[in-house]
Amino acid sequence: MKVTIYRGTHEIGGSCIELTTNSTRIILDAGLPLVDANREPFDQRSIQGKTVEALKEEGTLPNVPGLFGEGPPPDAILLTHSHLDHSGLLHLSRPEVPIYASRGTSKMMLAVAIFGSQKQLDRDRHRPVVARQAFEIGDVRITPFVVDHSAFGAMAFLIESGSKSLLYSGDLRSHGRKPGMIKTLINEVGPRKIDVLLMEGTHFGTDGPRGITEFELEEEIVERVKSAPSIVLAAFSPVDLDRLVTYYRAAQRTGRTFVVDAYTAFILHLTASEARVPQPTKEAGIRVYLNQAFERRGLENLRQKFIANRITLQEILEKPERHLMTFRPSMTQLDFEGRLPLRSRCLYSYWKGYLTKPEWVQLQEQLAAVDGTFVPAHTSGHIYVPDIIEFVRAISPRTVIPIHTFEPQQFRDHFSNVRCLSDGEEFLID
Ligand SMILES: [Zn+2]
Repeated sequence: MKVTIYRGTHEIGGSCIELTTNSTRIILDAGLPLVDANREPFDQRSIQGKTVEALKEEGTLPNVPGLFGEGPPPDAILLTHSHLDHSGLLHLSRPEVPIYASRGTSKMMLAVAIFGSQKQLDRDRHRPVVARQAFEIGDVRITPFVVDHSAFGAMAFLIESGSKSLLYSGDLRSHGRKPGMIKTLINEVGPRKIDVLLMEGTHFGTDGPRGITEFELEEEIVERVKSAPSIVLAAFSPVDLDRLVTYYRAAQRTGRTFVVDAYTAFILHLTASEARVPQPTKEAGIRVYLNQAFERRGLENLRQKFIANRITLQEILEKPERHLMTFRPSMTQLDFEGRLPLRSRCLYSYWKGYLTKPEWVQLQEQLAAVDGTFVPAHTSGHIYVPDIIEFVRAISPRTVIPIHTFEPQQFRDHFSNVRCLSDGEEFLID
């Protein structure tokens, strides 16, 4: 078995890996870059309207034979999760190649396709995979494991062929609401002989050794909601189902009604059969606010699903201190007509690196204008360095190959069996 990381050996985002055996070729993830060659944010909209040739030329498409153009196509693509830096190039890949991913992942992609700008997973190409149910592609055996990450449905893959084995972590963490997931992965894979661990190292080279857990974040948010004098606006990504539950619980614990927009309501609806999540109903303490961006779309079928549990903006504004409401910056203009409610508190649940984006800068000004407050309330979707160390030791692979990190060499500070590859370099597992 040979492994080649086409992108991701020295960067976070744009992951794309190839595994080949004598008879089979499999691609792991096909993501859009998060940064350009100067490590400036990559404009993900910039790919629209460009040809495959142009995208290859500029290096946005990794040069994997037959994946996007000429040459024999790979046998399959395995997708770990829905985030664009892992899935964002799939719609450009050869249509005859099947894509293996969890149902959760395809549902998240569907939601973002309807409410955002992402492409959905092609139904004809999707082969649903189930945790711990192994399947075969050619001479390769694959076992998926669910992992805790900031995108619902995320998976790691154990890949075996002949006597060789590789574990690809995808993106994961052990400080989320489901710490049992990584324990299961360790219990199942730890006792086996693993030749190569492809390990995400997002947190190497970033701030501090360890941040808070999702449960600690819940406590923090509860305090912030309790002390808020008026409406609380929660800005977060609903595909992060953990965070969605954290906000729901914070609303419950502070006696507020949780108001979700149509996007968030749709995610709760989609995941009802897969996860223990509340449904967007009055009985569960949730009301659906049909925000203007949604109303303008005219999606009548979806609208009907939520209409019985609808709340109007007028009802919310009559008692703003009784509500915790999902929010995005565009709602200031579209829904609040340019002026947020007096003394609003916005809880910001994204990576702090996005804070310099114009919409967040502007939002902070808009909050200041109404005597409001802007409070970051976040914890990472990625495993912290001390947990990486623990995890790698528990898996005890023959070789650790860093991926999804700007600082692969920092793995060497902790392990003796690290192999730092370059993008496009082939590694033979012998
Ligand atoms: Zn991710």
